[in-house]
Amino acid sequence: MSLHDIQTAIAKAESDVGRAAGSVTLIAVSKVQPNARVEAVLTEGHRCFGENKVQEAAGKWPAFRDSFGAVDLHLIGPLQTNKARQAIGLFDAIHSLDRPKLANTLARLAQEEGQCPDLFVQVNTGEEEQKAGILPADADAFIKECLALDLPVKGLMCIPPVSEEPSLHFALLAKIAARNGLSGLSMGMSSDFERAIALGATHVRVGSAIFGERVTG
Ligand SMILES: *Cc1c(COP(=O)(O)O)cnc(C)c1O
Repeated sequence: MSLHDIQTAIAKAESDVGRAAGSVTLIAVSKVQPNARVEAVLTEGHRCFGENKVQEAAGKWPAFRDSFGAVDLHLIGPLQTNKARQAIGLFDAIHSLDRPKLANTLARLAQEEGQCPDLFVQVNTGEEEQKAGILPADADAFIKECLALDLPVKGLMCIPPVSEEPSLHFALLAKIAARNGLSGLSMGMSSDFERAIALGATHVRVGSAIFGERVTG
């Protein structure tokens, strides 16, 4: 696969369900990929990328931005509160808002810095113990809490359990978003982004299908 193949598949998935062309944002997940692969995708003109670690992103994206200009950068992995200030400076969106302590920290730092990335509340739709995210039963209250803090919550994000049909999780996420008046849905990865688009994804996070298998991590 390649960037172009994925863009074509996204356009087809949009049109298959009668969604407007361009209504889905492709986040190219570049974590642990060799720089040469990332540069190839930048050279093709793509400008929206995802990373799952603040440190790793801070090590490579300032230089890529110097060379290629503005890039929309999304944090899709867990965020420790002690990295939150750095994350606010580096990322345009954070998809892993998953607990009150992080919400409070982001609200305070957003005031101090005078800016805040777009935020997605991560929901642990599979209720997996080892996975981050707010439980579905707690989602409504947590979203209200975030909005009361004036945080720019744009939508919800989920990572379905590997062994389950992802569509059930995508549908659940869409339902929680709709009843909370949120329009953003960050869902779908290399193996299931078309199903996510059919269920309303606005942001798909695709890594290996664009860049090839990850060498490490
Ligand atoms: C790595 C990662 C992806 C991309 O996974 P692929 O299967 O390579 O497309 C998407 N979302 C999150 C949260 C990830 O950590």
